[in-house]
This record gives sequence, structure tokens and C-alpha cells, in this order.
Amino acid sequence: SVSFTNVVKSYGMKEVLHSFSLQIDPGELICLLGPSGCGKSTILRCLAGFETITHGDITVDGESVVAMPPRERGMGMVFQHYSLFPNMTVLQNIAFGLKVAKVGKKERLERAQRMLNHVGLADFGTRYPNELSGGQQQRVALARALVVNPSVLLLDEPLSALDAKIRVQLRDEIRAIQQKLGITAIFVTHDQEEALAIADRVAVMHDGHLEQIGTPYELYVSPATPFVADFIGQSN
Ligand code: ATP
Ligand code: MG
Repeated sequence: SVSFTNVVKSYGMKEVLHSFSLQIDPGELICLLGPSGCGKSTILRCLAGFETITHGDITVDGESVVAMPPRERGMGMVFQHYSLFPNMTVLQNIAFGLKVAKVGKKERLERAQRMLNHVGLADFGTRYPNELSGGQQQRVALARALVVNPSVLLLDEPLSALDAKIRVQLRDEIRAIQQKLGITAIFVTHDQEEALAIADRVAVMHDGHLEQIGTPYELYVSPATPFVADFIGQSN
């Protein structure tokens, strides 16, 4: 489980998160949904430890993580822009985090291959990233994030750079893998259709605060504010 309690984040004089609180249950997939600049990435970066928070607390499985360095927080991350190492094969990319964690070579390659099978790229292990499509690269990024058994999977607009058809296909696959592994996940998007399609609950954000949180159905039938109604009701 993940818990944000009254988290405030300022950059200099500018406060970009205002007393943000959110509880995420084990195995739940939460979508953070909101327009550009509302603070979605900042929340992930604070949880992952790339930013220090100004006030409040963040816990993972009941333990405060705010004083921990990033690598001790157990986060698996996938970003919008493919961030694979270009000079490593697919299998080496996935196994890299295990190497850092000092897992032996044989086990590294076995676990990397198993994860590659999970994302439907069993035969792509010896290829290089530039020999893959955008969607395939994001599958590899997903496998790389998952292979270390993270406690939480963080996805920051992982599908935004892909075309519509692949986007729908891959979002459903991400959801299926997340459910199969039972991993807690936070999926950031500004696409309300994507959020409603895959989330257990959607957290709608607006200017650094949580506007409403609920199941896709709850948000759809009873938006709490005009902002939510507008945002959920718009079509892309
Ligand atoms: P997008 O959908 O465009 O990715 P976002 O919801 O992820 O937007 P954030 O990147 O979290 O938004 O940014 C939230 C606010 O914090 C914005 O106003 C942004 O300009 C500001 N901000 C983000 N990073 C910094 C920084 N390093 N220094 C100063 N301000 C920042
Ligand atoms: Mg962002």
C-alpha cells in the first residue's frame, strides 16, 4: 500500500502540490488524471525519491520513505519517452537492474527472459532498442521495471508517444500484467478515456490538489465538481 498524507511540494516560492493526500490499496491500479502542469509527475517523482517533499509524509507498506534514497524505495518506473540503453540488447536492458542488485548472471538472464515472455516479446531478447517499434520498446521498459519485483509500479504517460491503436492494445496488456502480478500501480495520464478504461480508481487532479477520487463509474455518474464533469466528459 502507498499513502500520501498532506504532501506539500514547493519549487522555490512556488507551491505545486497543496496538501495532497491519497491512500492506495495493495494490488490496486490508480490513475492520476489531470491537465498538463497539475502535478502528476511531481507526485511520482516525490514517491520515487527524485524530489524531496516540503511537508507531509509518504509511506509504502506502512513505512515512511521520505528519508530513503531512491534505490531503497522499491519503485519500478516507466516513462513516456523510451529510456532504454541503446547499446544493450533487450535482454541486457532488462537484466541490468538485477546486475546492479548483484543477482548472479544465470538467474539474471532467466528472470529477464521470463519477464520478456510476460510482455509478449519472447523472441526479441537479442535485438537492440533501435530495432524495435515504439510499442515494443515500451514493453521492454515495462519488463525492465518489473523484473526487480518492485513494491510499486509507476507509469508516467507510458503510452502518450504511441499511435491510437497500439495505445489501446498496450494499455489493456499493462492492466492484465499488473493484475496477474498483483502489483500496486500508479498510472499517470491526461487521457480520461484511458484512465476510465484501466483504473480501479481514478484520482482527478487540478492545480496541485486532488479534486475527486472514485471508481470510473462513480466519476462518470456523479462528478463532484464542474471541473471533473468537464474533464471526464470531454472527448479526445
Ligand atoms: P504534464 O501533463 O505536462 O506532464 P504534470 O501534471 O506532470 O504535467 P508536473 O510536471 O508535475 O505536471 O508539474 C507541476 C508544476 O510544477 C508545473 O507548474 C511545473 O511548471 C512545475 N515544476 C515541475 N518541475 C519543476 C522544477 N524542477 N522547477 C520548478 N517548477 C517545476
Ligand atoms: Mg508529467
